[in-house]
Amino acid sequence: MQDTAPSPSPAPLIDPFARPISYLRVSVTDRCDFRCVYCMSEHMTFLPKAELLTLEELDRLCSAFVGLGVRKLRITGGEPLVRRGILTFFQAMARHLGSGALAELTLTTNGSQLARFAPDLAAAGMRRINVSLDTLDAAKFAEITRWGRLAQVLEGIAAARAAGLRVKINMVALKGVNEDELFAMVEWCAREGHDLTFIEVMPMGDMGAEDRLAQYWSLVDLRARLAGRYSLTDLAERTGGPARYVRIAETGQKIGFITPLTHNFCESCNRVRLTCTGELFMCLGQEDRADLRGVLRGPGGEAALEAAIRAAIARKPKGHDFDYGRQAIGGQMSRHMSHTGG
Ligand code: SAM
Ligand code: SF4
Repeated sequence: MQDTAPSPSPAPLIDPFARPISYLRVSVTDRCDFRCVYCMSEHMTFLPKAELLTLEELDRLCSAFVGLGVRKLRITGGEPLVRRGILTFFQAMARHLGSGALAELTLTTNGSQLARFAPDLAAAGMRRINVSLDTLDAAKFAEITRWGRLAQVLEGIAAARAAGLRVKINMVALKGVNEDELFAMVEWCAREGHDLTFIEVMPMGDMGAEDRLAQYWSLVDLRARLAGRYSLTDLAERTGGPARYVRIAETGQKIGFITPLTHNFCESCNRVRLTCTGELFMCLGQEDRADLRGVLRGPGGEAALEAAIRAAIARKPKGHDFDYGRQAIGGQMSRHMSHTGG
């Protein structure tokens, strides 16, 4: 008689420190239509196309992770919405939302292409997106992003809201650059109904260490300034990532702080990152990685892929070594954020 019992679901991905891996961040391109000063140099050399995972390979890989228990997929880059054909990838991932295997499909974007994409993203099952916006001043925006236009991003954000997407603004805290806009940004987000998260600048890419230290604005200080004006209540909510949240009583807003340098957030880490070339980084702050592109393009099929993913997760380290202490940048990473996916 044929055995009709359903095959048992595969064992979930658990790392050596008993952390279940339920969150995959995927960089789908290293290219971008902006050149933010803390992320890229002005003249970037991008990867040849053959190095990138194709959209089909991205589908296979993401689907393999979903099959192994990943519940949340965040697409990033580079700028994900400048990747040709990316919408078909989102539409393909929608099947995992439909089946219930995936709880959330989301995106981190600079917002430049949102006016064009927002309705289709919502139709593919996306509910929330993160938009990076460090300033509401057009001239400053042009300085920070080098190639960006504020008006285009604001239009994109409006289109996202009109399509029913929730928007979280990510603002990198930059000393002497957007310090004076702290309250203006909080109040704009409150008025517009956006959540807001502040990010400490991290030692990525090839910016000079001096520039980086000069720009570093501790979120401890930023938070103290907020507390001077508003009543903040710590929220217990954790996402398994580096963010900590507070509620501002006066506006009802939720505010996040991503502080990789002032707090160690590794103990609850539930995530891994896939680069646009198919390298899996088990930790944003360590160089160890697994080449999944070779496996995808090899003869072993999905079984080899699953084995490679499991072997990689078994090497996930306990934590990272970023440290701005003693006025030197420890744990500096040589690769760009746009390659690993911020
Ligand atoms: N292009 C998209 C965007 O800007 O949202 C997605 C990729 S970008 C690398 C993802 C996030 O990383 C952005 O919020 C950006 O501000 C942040 N980021 C880039 N370089 C950073 C750095 N050196 N330190 C902290 N955050 C950084
Ligand atoms: Fe592009 Fe995002 Fe990097 Fe800015 S932060 S250069 S928008 S990838």
